[in-house]
Amino acid sequence: MITNSIRFKTSILYSSILLVILIFFSTYLFQAARHILYQNINEELNIKADQIVGTINAYGEVTNGKLPAMSLVREFLSDDVKVPVAQGVIDKLWEKHRWLLGAHNDFFRIVDVNGEVILQSEDLPAGAGFLLDHLLSIRAGADNYATLNINGIPFRGIRYPFTFNYRKPYVLQLVVPLTSVEHTMAKLLTVMITGIIVTLLLSLFIGSFLTRKILKPVTEVTLTASNISQKNLGIRIKDQALDHEMLLLVDSFNQMIDRLEKSFAHINEFSSHVAHELKTPLSIIKGELELALSADNAREEDRRVMMVTLEEIDRLIKIIKDLLLLAKFDYKLNIFKMERMNLTEFLHDVCRHAGVLAQEKGIRFSPLIPEEELWIQGDPVHLRRLFFNLIHNAVKFTPSCGEISIIVTVLEGKGRVSVKDTGEGIAPADQKKIFEKFYRVRKAGHEEVSGTGLGLCLAQSIARAHGGDIVFESAPQKGSTFTVIFPL
Ligand code: ADP
Repeated sequence: MITNSIRFKTSILYSSILLVILIFFSTYLFQAARHILYQNINEELNIKADQIVGTINAYGEVTNGKLPAMSLVREFLSDDVKVPVAQGVIDKLWEKHRWLLGAHNDFFRIVDVNGEVILQSEDLPAGAGFLLDHLLSIRAGADNYATLNINGIPFRGIRYPFTFNYRKPYVLQLVVPLTSVEHTMAKLLTVMITGIIVTLLLSLFIGSFLTRKILKPVTEVTLTASNISQKNLGIRIKDQALDHEMLLLVDSFNQMIDRLEKSFAHINEFSSHVAHELKTPLSIIKGELELALSADNAREEDRRVMMVTLEEIDRLIKIIKDLLLLAKFDYKLNIFKMERMNLTEFLHDVCRHAGVLAQEKGIRFSPLIPEEELWIQGDPVHLRRLFFNLIHNAVKFTPSCGEISIIVTVLEGKGRVSVKDTGEGIAPADQKKIFEKFYRVRKAGHEEVSGTGLGLCLAQSIARAHGGDIVFESAPQKGSTFTVIFPL
């Protein structure tokens, strides 16, 4: 994709906006989820503390308020249960709660009002005591919940004041690991990042697709504009099913081509009028010169000058006629009188006459035209001009003893007529230009060959007016093959 394009820039802009929205939304969602999970943990801590305190008190009642009942809490919170079975119903309850609450990974401490530790988990990690003092202070008024980081592992804790046997006040500090919450949050983060990446890629793809769709008329205008030349000013962009803004663009573009077409037609018409006006005086001069030449009393030197002038006038008249014709091809489309014609029969006739030109120069002329009928829609007068131009060129640029062949083939439903010579060929540097008006290859040290440089241009215009074209292959000193292609 081109980075300096509207398509690229809009896709990037849309995706950047979407990225910002997604980041805001995901952060909010992430924080909300964390908050909900912490709320749940708080509730869980509360229930656990409540159960522990309830059970301690129940034991207290059974053992007449003796504090050692509390040592059972340690059992409650460790895997290794050593609850005396003799305690009956309370023991069973104790054990049941222990498993129901899944408290064997938690840490606890019971402190009295002076901050003295009465009881704590046997495996309470080093440094945890300080944090419990600090964050879950035994004093009332502070927040009852806190998040602690004990040796790199996150914990959530509760400060739960209670009275034992309805007399002595104590505080239970209970912390549970946040591993499952952190695990869930990590998963959520992965899902969110993946979601953001996938959404971004999708938005880039859809954005680029939509922009391409929206900009399609612009691309069409660009393509059409680059294809337009003086020869095909009839091209217009279709304006159905376009958005309002694009419709305006396409309409003004089409109107601009309209104006261009009219201007070109006007120029062509003007040139054809000029050419026509020049032809008449030149024909008169030519007539006068011929008359003067035929007079017996003309001096030899005057005769020579008149001959040269006559040759140049002939050349001028030919150029003017060719230019007139080229101009008419461009602006008077009805100049071609198309009819159904048999191409092979027509070519036999052309070769009969053109062959004479070759034979006069001592060139072998070989028409390879099949007898079968090949029907085309064509204007015989202009097609004759086309083939005479090609054969005339072949004769001009082929030395005597060379060969010219006319080969007719049918390929992919198209008739192909090739004029092949064994002449001097065309240098690669000149090959691109030979169809241009007035282009003639000039070779140092060679005598000037007659010609106007308009023959191939005329031939190409005629072939294209028949829905075909001219292609060629040429190699210097080996020869050239000009092929006219016709739709059959
Ligand atoms: P011209 O009237 O000068 O022949 P064309 O338009 O017919 O003008 O041809 C343009 C140029 O193309 C010629 O000057 C010539 O150099 C080259 N050319 C055309 N046909 C041939 C050919 N069969 N062999 C070699 N060169 C050719």
